[in-house]
Amino acid sequence: MARSRIPGLFLVFAVLTLSLAGCHQASVRYNARYSGLLSQPLPRVLPIPVDGVTRDQLRNTWGTAREGGRHHQGIDIFAPRNTPIRSVTGGVIEFKGMRGLGGQVVYVVGPGGYRHYYAHLEEYGPQAEGDWVEAGEVIGYVGNSGNAAISSTHLHYGLYSPAGHAVNPYTWLRSGAPFAAAAAATQQAAK
Ligand SMILES: [Zn+2]
Repeated sequence: MARSRIPGLFLVFAVLTLSLAGCHQASVRYNARYSGLLSQPLPRVLPIPVDGVTRDQLRNTWGTAREGGRHHQGIDIFAPRNTPIRSVTGGVIEFKGMRGLGGQVVYVVGPGGYRHYYAHLEEYGPQAEGDWVEAGEVIGYVGNSGNAAISSTHLHYGLYSPAGHAVNPYTWLRSGAPFAAAAAATQQAAK
């Protein structure tokens, strides 16, 4: 009995040691990747995060008056319910859940430490908080959760500087393309 326990204990110890070493390596890699992300510049042009919406269909709804003396700090991109929403940059899912007026929201921290806010979702993508996403990955689906319940389904997309100031995303999106079109253009260029 006692003799068979020793190799077993040794095995547990060895597995623990190896997995701790693995965790350590992963966290070092993760930190290097995260600090790399923060040191990248925010691209000057961002793709349109809602499938099938072209730049001509975008309306600059930044700054329009909202109830309670608020002003609109983002852009509303209208699309049918359940249209896929894609992360405009690579980054990390910082938050995913219900939050205030936004309803079901996802926050992604991307290049330069800019925060991308996707609100009024019908449904979330498969990622968990802390997961890395690539640009173009589906992170949710268009809906009208939160205070959009009385309006047509749309994505509210907000962009925040690392210091937390809202900036007008239209400046970045107005020259952008939807991901499907962007991918087709890239394939064309590669030929
Ligand atoms: Zn909005």
